[in-house]
Amino acid sequence: MFDFLQIAKPRRMRVVRHGHPALRKHSEPVTTITPELVTLAERMIVTMQENEIVGVGLAAPQVGVNVRLIVIDTRPEGEAVNSVALSPGEALLNPRMPLTLVNPEIVSRSGETECATEGCLSLPDVSGEVTRSARVMLRATTLAGEELQVECANLLGRCLQHEIDHLDGVLFIDRISEEERKIAAPTLERMEKAEQRRLASRRH
Ligand SMILES: [Zn+2]
Repeated sequence: MFDFLQIAKPRRMRVVRHGHPALRKHSEPVTTITPELVTLAERMIVTMQENEIVGVGLAAPQVGVNVRLIVIDTRPEGEAVNSVALSPGEALLNPRMPLTLVNPEIVSRSGETECATEGCLSLPDVSGEVTRSARVMLRATTLAGEELQVECANLLGRCLQHEIDHLDGVLFIDRISEEERKIAAPTLERMEKAEQRRLASRRH
């Protein structure tokens, strides 16, 4: 009876791939949280969740929009839930995930680093070992306008560094070893050409 009141589910967006210019641009800060921005965030969350590989984070440039906005969902699953001590950031943010962060920045980072394998929804079939700070101090605003400053570690800390890199036009492949990049080179080249062909065909 009330079917007409149901709000349509946000539509999934296409994740752009390596070779798309939006991935290499410096993204602009958000000045006002508009309804359009809220819709973009909702669509990005659906896109992150419904990708063939479920992502733990997505940055606006990955859907071709160069604004400083990211969505994250790094909640641990199953046995992982109690296996690590939560950082203050995870304790605060896990219950709010999937979460949108506006103008996220890292204000300080630990000297201690950790190495782990990363991938990216914009670079399917490519992975590599990336060394990142073990802990970072995140500063960001939520869609509700709440300002956060909290220390984040574990997968959340890594994901934030990866996604904030996207806002500066940096991809994880810029941080892998020369050797790994050589191995990935043919895949990257194919991807870049395919994406550029796609862009060119859409112009006509
Ligand atoms: Zn990525």
